[in-house]
Amino acid sequence: MELDDIERITVLGAGTMGHGIAEVAALAGYEVNLRDINEELVSDGYEQIEWSLDKLAEKDRISEEARDAAKENVTPIVDLEEAVEDTDVVIEAIVEEMSIKQEVYEELDGYAPDRTIFASNTSSLSITDLSEVTDRAEQFCGMHFFNPPVRMELVEVISGAHTSEETMDVVVDLAESMDKTPVRVRKDRPGFIVNRILVPLMNEACWIVEEDVASIAEVDSTTKYGMGLPMGSFELGDQVGNDVSLHVLEYMHDVLGAAYEPCPLLERKVDDEELGKKTGKGFYDYENGGVDIPTDAIREDVTGRLHAVLANETGKLLAEDVAPIEDIDKAVTLGAAFPKGPGKLCDEAGLDSIVATLEELQEEVDENRYAVSDGLREAAEDGGFYGGDEEDDTVEFDTVRLEYPTEMVGHIVLDRPQQMNTVNPEMLEEFSQAVDLLEDDDGVRSILVTGAGDRAFSAGADAMGMAGSANPIDAIKLSRKGQQAWGKLEESAMPAVVGIDGYALGGGMELATCADMRIATERSTFGQPEFDLGLLPGWGGTQRLKHLIGESRAREIIFTADHYDADTMHDWGFVNRVVGNDELEEKAIELADDLARGPPLAMEYTKKAMLAGRDDTDAGLEVEAQAFGHLIHTDDVMEGISKLQSDEDPEFEGK
Ligand code: NAD
Repeated sequence: MELDDIERITVLGAGTMGHGIAEVAALAGYEVNLRDINEELVSDGYEQIEWSLDKLAEKDRISEEARDAAKENVTPIVDLEEAVEDTDVVIEAIVEEMSIKQEVYEELDGYAPDRTIFASNTSSLSITDLSEVTDRAEQFCGMHFFNPPVRMELVEVISGAHTSEETMDVVVDLAESMDKTPVRVRKDRPGFIVNRILVPLMNEACWIVEEDVASIAEVDSTTKYGMGLPMGSFELGDQVGNDVSLHVLEYMHDVLGAAYEPCPLLERKVDDEELGKKTGKGFYDYENGGVDIPTDAIREDVTGRLHAVLANETGKLLAEDVAPIEDIDKAVTLGAAFPKGPGKLCDEAGLDSIVATLEELQEEVDENRYAVSDGLREAAEDGGFYGGDEEDDTVEFDTVRLEYPTEMVGHIVLDRPQQMNTVNPEMLEEFSQAVDLLEDDDGVRSILVTGAGDRAFSAGADAMGMAGSANPIDAIKLSRKGQQAWGKLEESAMPAVVGIDGYALGGGMELATCADMRIATERSTFGQPEFDLGLLPGWGGTQRLKHLIGESRAREIIFTADHYDADTMHDWGFVNRVVGNDELEEKAIELADDLARGPPLAMEYTKKAMLAGRDDTDAGLEVEAQAFGHLIHTDDVMEGISKLQSDEDPEFEGK
């Protein structure tokens, strides 16, 4: 079978994952049969699809026609035979029970046409064992979506022991046709890639607390604010569900051996039915304060242990030939929203010191759990998972991308789409370097800046990631660093265009402010929400915005901290051109190319003169940086940051 042969897809199970997968398939234009065991469950699933499609259309993420067509594409069905009798692919997302799944596959095998491919969305069961109850094991693979399927880009496509290459190829193509990023998992190993990294990390966090090495607060502070992972280890555990983690871990323990022994702390949580967010209590008490992670309880020894587990699991995945390092890193950045994959993170931490930590732990704590994997040892000998000697002339960036869409346009793409292109210190650094590179390139005559993905140009500073290292002196430096990085665009001899699709908030809007021209899609949203955090715009916003649109408007935007749409910002003179939602790339490149054809010297001196003629901005910037430093340790900032991910409004006290 080839991708073009696929017209109809049947999704089994209309629950959390099933309805989401059906929605994604319907949006990609497939006819979808959505099946569950009774009328009520399928119609519940269908209603959730309708609700989600309506939301996407409301937010202009899809057109009304696309919404209506997707709704039309889904047929709710209860009868299993009818659901699969003329289908090309079955994606199964029913309850996570081997015996129930096997029973369903056996029945299904009799009803579905010979050509039909079976793909299971299981998180933790063996694809091989599932496939063996059918007579089509070579046409059987895993297709592991992440929750929620509509938003999460990653799909792990897993080969069972009998899966043919043809089946893998077509399911990889199918995932791509649904606008997802598939990663091939070449071996059917417990946890595949993402859970193989996350679940042992979670278990290690438990062991650290169980052994009285550190507290839950210290482990989570280290994970979130020290290592910069999106959530604390225990915060993540509570979100996933302690029963789910334990279940995966027990399976790993069975198949992969003693190193995966579940920590008694996790077992006790499950015995006590403290399963996490879903039961109101887990490692945190959600009816009593919820997640509360200090920003300043980072512990170096805890970082060492967590890195050790990340590196060891990565080494094992490599040695077991599950996936190459680039795919492991891609899967974990997309599936778990890590700022970098475990390969890159551990290379930066230094594999030699990680191996030394493991050897010490093996001797002092547990000989199985911390045995250094062959894959890690080999990588350490090579100088890193990526080898130590990959220096060449091309500059590799992690947070931005450089492209050259036309002969004279240098295009910087802010490239953290899973994090809404939020800005961390590394991005400031890399943005600066990227501008320098373009400045040094004689062929380049204009700069274009856009954000990857269709949700945000940039949703602002990565506040969660920054809070951990914040003391007043560092915050002053950080403010200056942002002012200077964005200022490079303003000071560049070349014309600079910013193309905005989605959110341009906070630091993102401050970057846009530094361009010579701004072009935005109709659905874009602007704002300086810093006051909501008890902060002030610290990357030039208190000074530069007023030059563009006048003090009155600048004050309004900063003081209200509200969102403003593209038309309003156009009326106010901030946005030069508003374009259709699908036109940004084309129109922005066209504009940048047009400006590139202007007279370079006249351009350079005009920009210089305009900048020099402003009233004393430097004094203002200095005040801004000092103020940023004064604010960073206030209670109001803590209050603002602590409410960032909740529905509650922050209550500021001016302290
Ligand atoms: P869910 O409980 O929300 O939904 C499962 C649905 O399957 C239910 O509606 C149930 O009625 C239905 N079902 C049960 N028996 C059935 C049968 N014989 N035929 C058809 N439908 C049947 O579960 P979920 O969270 O959507 O998980 C489904 C699968 O996806 C599991 O294999 C799970 O491991 C996997 N998964 C879950 C997540 C997640 O975050 N929830 C993420 C990735 C993968």
